Amino acid sequence: MTKTEKLLRELISIPSVNPAFLPAGDPKAGERRVAECLAAVTTRVGLDVELQHVLPGRPNLLARLSPSGKTRQRILLAPHLDTVNGVEAQFTPRKSNGRIFGRGACDTKGSVAAMVSSICEIAKSGRRPAQTEIVFAGLVDEENAQRGSRALAASGLKADLAIVGEPTRAQIVTAHKGDLWLQLQTRGKSAHGARPELGRNAVHQMARVVDLLETEYAARLRRSRHKTNCWAAQPSASASSMAAPSRTLCRIAARSASIAGHCPAKPSRAFAERFSHCCGGMSFMR
Ligand SMILES: [Zn+2]
Repeated sequence: MTKTEKLLRELISIPSVNPAFLPAGDPKAGERRVAECLAAVTTRVGLDVELQHVLPGRPNLLARLSPSGKTRQRILLAPHLDTVNGVEAQFTPRKSNGRIFGRGACDTKGSVAAMVSSICEIAKSGRRPAQTEIVFAGLVDEENAQRGSRALAASGLKADLAIVGEPTRAQIVTAHKGDLWLQLQTRGKSAHGARPELGRNAVHQMARVVDLLETEYAARLRRSRHKTNCWAAQPSASASSMAAPSRTLCRIAARSASIAGHCPAKPSRAFAERFSHCCGGMSFMR
């Protein structure tokens, strides 16, 4: 068994489920034990190790391999330490057809194991890069609010090259999907249940908006460079069973690949007008 495989098995067997997916106090929650395991591994080979406070009991791990000379450039290896939840068996690593399976095995404990093993090998070889500092940053909270990467960015650390280690089947990927939530609202006019023709049903208006989203707008997003998609979710209407709904709220999710502030899922002004024209009186909440 290689050292990388051994480390990966160890990391899988230490649950580090993002607390957002578990009830309070669940023993599988949090990244601290994984961070401490990696701190021990990297300290042993002489890296400068720091647990960077992010959230109570959830630190980022920073391990630096400084160059033999003056630092002129920096490589940042920045995978995340947390995982989504899993069933009990997934926290016991198993091997099949030459692959290791377990919760987080590829997202991203596999990358963590590969990166940490590599940096440790370089440290042990005694041949450090002349002018390049290599920083391993094991980040917390990627699966929920990305507070680990936000804290790292806020700390002012700069790098010339960064690899995050997300599973991409070894393809180089430079964009990342994000979420854009739009809250749309249609306004109708209340009417007595016996005379609905005197009112204007906000649900019916929203149905037209949802249809537009699922057809014309979705097709437009699919044609975009980063193959964005969208769907409508969480509708709610305010009305009694005796009256036509006067107001409908609908949350729209749009997943987009966003690069440096570019957000192709956000409706353009022209398209917002198209929505508005479709139902009259609809407004974008945000
Ligand atoms: Zn991931």
